[in-house]
Amino acid sequence: MPTTEPARPAHHFVAGIGAGPANLSLAALGEDLLPGGLPLFERQPGPAWHPGLLGAHSRLQTSWVKDLVTLVDPRNRLSFLNYLVQTGRIYAFLNAQFDAIPRVEYARYLGWAASELGTVRYGTAIHEIRFADRFELVGADGPVATAEHLVLGLGTHPEVPPCLPPGGLPGVVLAERLDATLAGDSGATGGQVIVVGGGQTGAEAVLSLVRRGVRDIRWLGRRHWFAPLDDSPPANDFYRPAYQRFFHNLPDDVRHAYVGAQVLTSDGVSLETLQEIYRANYEGYLRDGRAPVMILPGRDVVRAGARDGVVTLWCRRASGGSERHTAHLVVLATGRRPAPLPLSAGLAELVELDGAGDPIVDHDYSIRWKHAPRHRIFVQNRGRLSHGLADPNLSLLPVRSAIILNTLLDRPAFTIRDEQVYTMWA
Ligand SMILES: Cc1cc2nc3c(=O)[nH]c(=O)nc-3n(C[C@H](O)[C@H](O)[C@H](O)COP(=O)(O)OP(=O)(O)OC[C@H]3O[C@@H](n4cnc5c(N)ncnc54)[C@H](O)[C@@H]3O)c2cc1C
Repeated sequence: MPTTEPARPAHHFVAGIGAGPANLSLAALGEDLLPGGLPLFERQPGPAWHPGLLGAHSRLQTSWVKDLVTLVDPRNRLSFLNYLVQTGRIYAFLNAQFDAIPRVEYARYLGWAASELGTVRYGTAIHEIRFADRFELVGADGPVATAEHLVLGLGTHPEVPPCLPPGGLPGVVLAERLDATLAGDSGATGGQVIVVGGGQTGAEAVLSLVRRGVRDIRWLGRRHWFAPLDDSPPANDFYRPAYQRFFHNLPDDVRHAYVGAQVLTSDGVSLETLQEIYRANYEGYLRDGRAPVMILPGRDVVRAGARDGVVTLWCRRASGGSERHTAHLVVLATGRRPAPLPLSAGLAELVELDGAGDPIVDHDYSIRWKHAPRHRIFVQNRGRLSHGLADPNLSLLPVRSAIILNTLLDRPAFTIRDEQVYTMWA
């Protein structure tokens, strides 16, 4: 009886892992340029952008002009403007007069772009990348594809304070699980709730609790004050291709210092969100004689425990000393870190690392490794220290994609123009 050989996985010129905005931007700009387009392997079962963090009132912190393509190719069919026209919403959208668009609208736009592209393979988590003359992408049931080049757009995952046990604690939830937790437990809105994290996600969790009628919220975080996002013109100078070029050529220690100094241009809280919290406190005081949100900056959670349905957090105070807080529900919004690269041990050994043990990201977002000249590995959203704070954000997605495509195609398929820079950084 003839034996049938298992089908060999399809071979691609370049394959992407992850179908978040970073790789969707690359796929959109490369649609007609890359042989076979850009297949993307995505572990989620369908389109989803930060599910659980798309609350009704949450807004994008970036202009919608900074979509997947427009900054380098405004005529591309996958622009946000074309999405509005194709879905018939352009007039309603204009009439709604948004200063900042709802996050849920951006998620819909990404889903639309992915479906137009038709190259996303959902429900395909890549567990390991191997290399033997070509890259092999291995999923749960074995190899799913091979490729000459790779682009890793794996995004980030939530960071948890090191004092929490790896399996978590009862009564402690990540911010993205807050809505689901409250939906499944009507008693969760009674009593005291603690939100840990002084960034945008923490602030939104606070507001979400306020809107659900929670009257005793403690909002604590490490920052000395829960500062607003700096969206001023000089701050936005850091989000220009000209600045990225300048930044990438600085010495390591200077880049580290600059990222620290500029952090509020990226990780601050939207002014409107802060205003809403302060107004909720003011109105709560008028109505009940009591403000619902106690604001506790300069607190570092150093120990946590749970007993009899009560979570206790021990905090070190920046002003000196320590204190203890208890609640029946604790919400963690304590930052995000890049997802680990799923490289096989053999491949990881061939990658050049910096002093902190991270791959070295070159100017074109490729990482240095033994066979790099013939088989590139590009990384998206891992260049905070090499390219500056625009890298983990949506601001310059198409610019980064264009730079990657120019290298992949070995020709200047895109020209990145950034004229009239009035600031002399050096
Ligand atoms: C709630 C929230 C709001 C934000 N809002 C803004 C904003 O307004 N403006 C701004 O500039 N920035 C914003 N950011 C920051 C940043 O722009 C976004 O996180 C953005 O989604 C990053 O895009 P990405 O494609 O790099 O990663 P992600 O969007 O995280 O996408 C990565 C994808 O890779 C998939 N994946 C990961 N590992 C694997 C694997 N092994 N196999 C298969 N698939 C895998 C994931 O499922 C995910 O879909 C926000 C971040 C958060 C958390």
